[in-house]
Amino acid sequence: MTAEPNAPGRARELARRVREFVDTHVVPAEPEMFASREVCAELLVELQSKARSQGLWGIGYPASLGGAGLPLTSYLLVAEQEGRSFYGPAVFGAETVVDVHMLDRFATPQVRERFLLPTVRGEAVPSYGMTEPGKTGSEVSGFTTEVRFEPDRCTVRGRKWFISNADRATFMTVMARSEGLGKHPKDAFSLVVVPTDATGFGIVRELPVLGHFTGQCEVELRDVQVPHSHVVGERGAGLAVVQQRLGLARTVRSMHWLGQAQRGFDLMCRRLRSRRVQGGHLADKQLLGQHVADSYAEISAARALVRRAAARIDQGRLHVDLGVAKLAASRTAVAVLDRAVQVHGAEGLCDDTPLSVMYRAARSTRIYDGADEVQISQMAPRILKTYADSDGFDFTDPVDDFAAPA
Ligand SMILES: Cc1cc2nc3c(=O)[nH]c(=O)nc-3n(C[C@H](O)[C@H](O)[C@H](O)COP(=O)(O)OP(=O)(O)OC[C@H]3O[C@@H](n4cnc5c(N)ncnc54)[C@H](O)[C@@H]3O)c2cc1C
Repeated sequence: MTAEPNAPGRARELARRVREFVDTHVVPAEPEMFASREVCAELLVELQSKARSQGLWGIGYPASLGGAGLPLTSYLLVAEQEGRSFYGPAVFGAETVVDVHMLDRFATPQVRERFLLPTVRGEAVPSYGMTEPGKTGSEVSGFTTEVRFEPDRCTVRGRKWFISNADRATFMTVMARSEGLGKHPKDAFSLVVVPTDATGFGIVRELPVLGHFTGQCEVELRDVQVPHSHVVGERGAGLAVVQQRLGLARTVRSMHWLGQAQRGFDLMCRRLRSRRVQGGHLADKQLLGQHVADSYAEISAARALVRRAAARIDQGRLHVDLGVAKLAASRTAVAVLDRAVQVHGAEGLCDDTPLSVMYRAARSTRIYDGADEVQISQMAPRILKTYADSDGFDFTDPVDDFAAPA
């Protein structure tokens, strides 16, 4: 993301406006959106168009595509407010920020015209097909979806699952093996854009997540044919594109999750102050004060770690901090929302508060975009290696212009 003068000030102002929009328009619509998928789809379109008319759509897109042109460290102030509602990322076009950046950087002119620009206008919905049923999500080498390069076209065959938004997607960027088994994974996979209305593209089933349907699907690709221009990046070099994508995805989504954690914290504190029990309010119970202190410390620490990860990306580095931040943000969201549910008692588990939806969504974050254990097993050896090569890990903070919310 490119820089502009006074980016932190501009980001603070946009964050304030996004927060106001969420509180005024999105939060009041949540109960109806939770209750019915049909109503949810209709209200989403209305809210998106309202956000667009107020200049709050696609703030994280590249400036050349109508975004605010903020560096990632500044955009995160906005992203946290977008994430305050479970629906916020979809309402503000933030859900597609990662696909937009990936296609802007790596797509051909044909894909830009047919898929990227409609996505930026909110007319197309992207999805991303990496994980496969029966395979280990973190081990690309085991994926068997393949793309055959023929003289006049590419043919994609395989099965993907847990594809977010596949129920309403216009296209799916598919990770598929294009080269022989002898090749190293970094030279063996290609990314290909497949329209969801192409012959051979089919949704096998929708997968409930913790018992609720939120658009994750299993998808079959039965010899789907696309032109060569649908390849994103170089043939065989899909993994390099995926790495760039994942760095941005983890960082932006982490801030959305912290928006959820902060909202859970707000709900928890209000409940503690308003609920009367024998001997005063819940807030007077020392045991519950522990929830407040732990949550405050965890949110503050995770927020700083995500900003630090964003600074690494702004500097063009894929650093160990990206995994650390993702780990901290997802664990924080789960822990804080768990405590918020706890202090609401049974009410926290039904849909009279937004907490049950938020908690369910947060639980998934410890699995997708790299499970906790995968982050740990990648980061620990990298940190330890620095103690063999030099004096140890460099903890210097890369965030020079640290912009705290006003
Ligand atoms: C809500 C949701 C949305 C998703 N959206 C998408 C999407 O849009 N597109 C897409 O392609 N995928 C998506 N996924 C899939 C997600 O990316 C995978 O579930 C994730 O990568 C984990 O892979 P897996 O499920 O195959 O688990 P596995 O790889 O089988 O791992 C299971 C567990 O084993 C452990 N483990 C695995 N590998 C290691 C390792 N190397 N070191 C230590 N421990 C390890 C971890 O505890 C891990 O949780 C989504 C998943 C969810 C839940």
